[in-house]
Amino acid sequence: MASCYLHKCDHCGYSVQTLGLNEFYRDARGRRRPHGHPAPISREAERSGIAGFSANLYCPRCDRVYDLVVVEFERPAARSLDAWMGWVKPKEEYSREDAVRCPDCGNAELLLGPPEGKPPMCSRCGRGRLISEEIWIS
Ligand SMILES: [Zn+2]
Ligand SMILES: [Zn+2]
Repeated sequence: MASCYLHKCDHCGYSVQTLGLNEFYRDARGRRRPHGHPAPISREAERSGIAGFSANLYCPRCDRVYDLVVVEFERPAARSLDAWMGWVKPKEEYSREDAVRCPDCGNAELLLGPPEGKPPMCSRCGRGRLISEEIWIS
């Protein structure tokens, strides 16, 4: 159940897109793979369960979108509902509020949907702010 957001500068019109949350699973080698929603995309995905969620998040400081793990569970969730309702325990490193950070600058204020506080400044023109809007849900 992912939402796609558009963040558009109210001054110069520059825009970025973010997307999340996306279920993922780990394959036999521990690599992150898309799990599929609402149904698993493969037998392997189904067998593995949902290891966690990832999202394409925007770092306003770096002006880049990163594909990052938002949460990973101690044990994969067998049912999609367990993952979405938070009925599975997150790994220790994901239980902190600032667990998800920009891999380049360490910023923990990454954007998925509309921010709680003020919208971030546009890094292109430095004058406008990025106004968030949900453009679709899948
Ligand atoms: Zn701008
Ligand atoms: Zn950054």
